[in-house]
Formats: sequence, C-alpha cells, structure tokens
Amino acid sequence: MRLVLVGPPGAGKGTQAQFIASHLAIPKVSTGDIFRSNVSGGTELGRQAKAFMDRGDLVPDEVTIAMVASRLQEEDAQAGFLLDGFPRNVPQAETLKKLLADWGMRLDLVLELVVDHDEVIRRLSGRRTCRKCGRVWHVAFDPPSRPGTCDECGGELFQRDDDREETIRHRLEVYQRQTQPLISYYADDGVLLGIDATGPVDDVTDRALIALRRFLR
Ligand code: ADP
Ligand code: AMP
Repeated sequence: MRLVLVGPPGAGKGTQAQFIASHLAIPKVSTGDIFRSNVSGGTELGRQAKAFMDRGDLVPDEVTIAMVASRLQEEDAQAGFLLDGFPRNVPQAETLKKLLADWGMRLDLVLELVVDHDEVIRRLSGRRTCRKCGRVWHVAFDPPSRPGTCDECGGELFQRDDDREETIRHRLEVYQRQTQPLISYYADDGVLLGIDATGPVDDVTDRALIALRRFLR
C-alpha cells in the first residue's frame, strides 16, 4: 500500500505514521526526520537543509525530491510506504506522481489529519522529541514518566528549534500557502480521505485504520 499523510504541522502525522506504518508493515518515510538526522549527522544534505528548516521554510524542491526518490527506491519500500511530510506543495506532488508512474505504481490513498488551528498550536508548543530514537512526546498530552527522558530508549528529550512561537507561526503560513492546495489536488484525483484527528492518539489511530479499510475495500 502506498500512502501519504497530510495535515498542518502538529496535526499528529509523525505520531500516527509510526502506528499506521507498523500496523500495515510498511516503512514510514518522514522527510522531516531524514532532514533532521542529516543535520545532526553534519552531512552535505543536512548543511543544505538547515537554514531553511531553522526559518520554517520548505527546503528547495530539487533537494527534497532527490532525497525522496532515492529513499523510495530502497528495497523495503518496494511493497509500499507511508509518506509523512512529503509532498508539501503541488510541484512535489506532480513529481511524485510522475516518479511512481515511471515505476508502474500510483498512490492508493492520501489521508488528511483534520485538526483546528488552536489545537495545532497547543500540540506544537508542548512537543518534545527524543534525540536518540526520534519518538515524539508532549509535555501535557503524552508525557514521558520522567520529564526530559524518553520512556522507549532512555534518550534525552529536546524541543525542536522550529517549535518556537515565531517559527511556528511562519510554518503555519507556509502550510496554508504551499501545502493546503494539495487537499483539492488529491481530492480531484479521488484519493483523498479526511479524518478527525482530535482526541486521544489511540482513537485517531483507530479512526485512521477503519477509514483505510473502508476506502480500500
Ligand atoms: P506532525 O508530525 O504532524 O508535525 P506530531 O506527530 O509531531 O505532528 O505531533 C505534534 C505534537 O502533538 C506532539 O507533541 C505529539 O505528542 C502531540 N500529539 C499527537 N497526536 C495527538 C493527539 N491525538 N492528542 C494530543 N496530542 C497529540
Ligand atoms: P516536519 O518534521 O515535517 O515538521 O518538517 C520539518 C522541516 O523540514 C520543515 O519545516 C521543512 O523545512 C523541512 N521539510 C520536511 N519535509 C519537507 C518537504 N516535503 N519539502 C520541503 N521541506 C521539507
């Protein structure tokens, strides 16, 4: 199955992606995670992406698309994948469609996580990420048992630089301007399905899996 998760920053894409991907036994491909690990690893790709990420802007399409094209050609993605954070604008969506068509594939479904603006701000401002395993927590909605430490792996939790108030505001503008047009783009393609992404994480996962089963039947 080839899936895309779309929604504003803080909608819960990364949180849901880990559960949905493991349920469907397909790899989760998160462009944000790949960029962040390249930034912390000091690679050339990380060097190219860092300034854009710090400002809350999109990394240029040619850099992002080359990275995704190469990731999707890896062995584990041949039977399917779950994209989280890509595509993020219409040109990226067009290129993805062409790439998949060249490989004799197409997207099965684009799942939109629908959450209102105030909830997104609450989620982003309390988000904490594990430096070691990348697991995402929230100081109030999904707190680890020891503040600052990941329950999964014992790693140190940190607040992303782009989760500061100023940058959050800018990222939401970028979402509205550049990413939101994908909703009607994919609706026109007949592959869009929106679900209510408010409420407890497990409830959202259940809604997503039920919607997936219905849509694909
Ligand atoms: P995205 O990948 O869409 O930017 P994340 O998955 O990182 O969003 O989630 C943003 C923040 O919201 C995280 O701190 C996460 O723990 C929290 N969160 C995710 N889903 C929910 C939910 N259903 N209810 C409350 N908080 C949530
Ligand atoms: P995310 O983890 O999805 O919130 O992404 C964090 C940052 O990585 C974004 O604000 C962008 O700077 C960059 N990024 C992630 N995915 C993309 C993409 N598809 N296109 C361009 N930039 C991206």
